[in-house]
Amino acid sequence: MTKIKQKLCGIIGYPLTHSLSPIMHNKAFADVGLDWFYMPFTVKEEDLKDALKGFKAIGVIGLNVTMPYKKKVIPYLDEIAHYANLVGAVNTIHYIEDKIVGYNTDGRGFIDAITEGFKFISEDKKILLIGAGGAARAVAVSLAMEGAKSIIIANRTFEHANDIKEILDNHFSKCESKVVSLDKSINQYFKNVDMIVNATPIGMYDNEKEIPFSFNNFTENHYVIDLIYKPLQTEFLKRAKERGAKTANGLDMLIYQGAAAFKIWTNIDAPIEVMKKAIIEEIKGAN
Ligand code: NAP
Repeated sequence: MTKIKQKLCGIIGYPLTHSLSPIMHNKAFADVGLDWFYMPFTVKEEDLKDALKGFKAIGVIGLNVTMPYKKKVIPYLDEIAHYANLVGAVNTIHYIEDKIVGYNTDGRGFIDAITEGFKFISEDKKILLIGAGGAARAVAVSLAMEGAKSIIIANRTFEHANDIKEILDNHFSKCESKVVSLDKSINQYFKNVDMIVNATPIGMYDNEKEIPFSFNNFTENHYVIDLIYKPLQTEFLKRAKERGAKTANGLDMLIYQGAAAFKIWTNIDAPIEVMKKAIIEEIKGAN
């Protein structure tokens, strides 16, 4: 006889071809002794509203939200947490009694990753942030919340970076921010920053000519994080490491954002090492 899992969580996106979240959360539920199950749900945009209501009807506890719905779910939520509101995106939903509440755990994931991995305290630090997409927004707001002194946002599309600057200027007046183009002009900024964050796919490029700045800018004084986790070491990270920088990939951010969602749904501290092991085995197995 099939054993009925008592509670259900999942991830919604479209297309949802591969996700590491099911393996991570299912191992975590089992580890803490919860008879819960986490599964992927491919939801088409025209069905999003009905799907969110339907999940409530069948007693789903929580969802992760991935591309392209991190903004699009917002109109269907009853409440949205302060940080998610600032970032303008939701990656975690909690069904509580008759309310649907939205959170964003990407920033918490990022901060926990740098604090645990690097022992990096963001207060009074100067950051060069490459990229201005959804992940960069979450990173910028969380760093500003943690008291970062300044954030230089380098992006291909100026307006996207300017949107982030506007959020920082409006809500975090102590955090200076500046928008620059993602080209060789950013070389000059490396020497004055403590941490460099790559939140674009350029970390994957292995041809240096395609990279719009010089890898020689990395020094042993830098903390360098690339949000990409597949591959585990991008060319960007490899070159930073060769120059003596302390480096980290996006794996810890992925795990800690998942851990924060797990805590929201279960009110239990997530088993971080179990989640990490599950993901590393999955990534290695896929190669
Ligand atoms: P997104 O919203 O689509 O933003 C993509 C960013 O990359 C934008 O700044 C975009 O610039 C830039 N970009 C794209 N192609 C580029 C190119 N050819 N040259 C220069 N810049 C380019 O994506 P996202 O969700 O922020 O994700 C960004 C990265 O973070 C991805 O690699 C993703 O895998 C990673 N990520 C990791 C985690 C984690 O938990 N570790 C979580 C979320 C995302 P424009 O503004 O000019 O388009």
